[in-house]
Amino acid sequence: MFREASCHCRTLRLGCEGEPVKVSLCNCFDCQRRTGSLFSVAAFFPREAIRLLEGQARHFRRPSASGHPVTFHFCMDCGSTLWWEPDRMPHLAGVAAGSFADAAFVAPTQAVWTSDKHHWLTFPDTIVQHERNPAPRSLPDTVAAPVAMRSGSRASSKNVRVRLYEPGDFANVDTLWQQCFPDDPSWNRADRAIPAKMHFQPDLFFVAKSDAAVIGTAMAGYDGHRGWLYSLAVSPSYRRSGIGTALLEEAESALQGLGCLKINLQIRQGNEQVAAFYQRHGYTAEARTSMAKRIGTS
Ligand SMILES: [Zn+2]
Ligand SMILES: [Zn+2]
Repeated sequence: MFREASCHCRTLRLGCEGEPVKVSLCNCFDCQRRTGSLFSVAAFFPREAIRLLEGQARHFRRPSASGHPVTFHFCMDCGSTLWWEPDRMPHLAGVAAGSFADAAFVAPTQAVWTSDKHHWLTFPDTIVQHERNPAPRSLPDTVAAPVAMRSGSRASSKNVRVRLYEPGDFANVDTLWQQCFPDDPSWNRADRAIPAKMHFQPDLFFVAKSDAAVIGTAMAGYDGHRGWLYSLAVSPSYRRSGIGTALLEEAESALQGLGCLKINLQIRQGNEQVAAFYQRHGYTAEARTSMAKRIGTS
């Protein structure tokens, strides 16, 4: 779908291709001052999905409550902020949801910085609330980031959390991986991979946990030069509800926190759906031949 966003005086027009990756509501005092309203609603699109169709914007850059600067683009005539680029999410641009002037626009799935929320405001249950920002990148505590999910998903959004793997998760993860990666070689199986991971960077192994079971995983590694991503899995009945995105963001956040500047990952050839998922999150295919040599026997 193609949508057009415009400023108050319509001098600035921004074209947005496709669906927003995420719609998020922010109550922080910076957003309150910027908008003059009590919260801002951002529709996040991949940066390559937006383009300025008309007009010239000025920009204003400021640090954000999460500690990462954001560049805001606004109309020189009427002053409306139309879109912004958070350093925290270099592949995404936020577009002011109100600038689409579309009452049927996608609803937010999360509200952040509710610590600054006005006392009389209440949000529907479909909006997961965070007192600050989920998955703060500057803190080592990457556990327990509640997951925001699109409404209409089969899974309930209320009790899914992304946290570090714990030993009690083993049986669930084993089952999930057999379901998601049925053709994997034996050395990728949970009983080999997980004990090894627990000895090496165990804080880069995340699960998404519902009330009942582990329904998603993401494993990462950082060798001081590159970050690698492995075993991003979501239980089939929970797919397309934002859990893969939450796991990916958690892993990216942890790698970024270690100083990692580039993340690599491998996808089996022909797996277009998975490739499209990563493309939506800013990954591009590089012209490389992946080579490997097994140096162990087990
Ligand atoms: Zn304007
Ligand atoms: Zn804000």
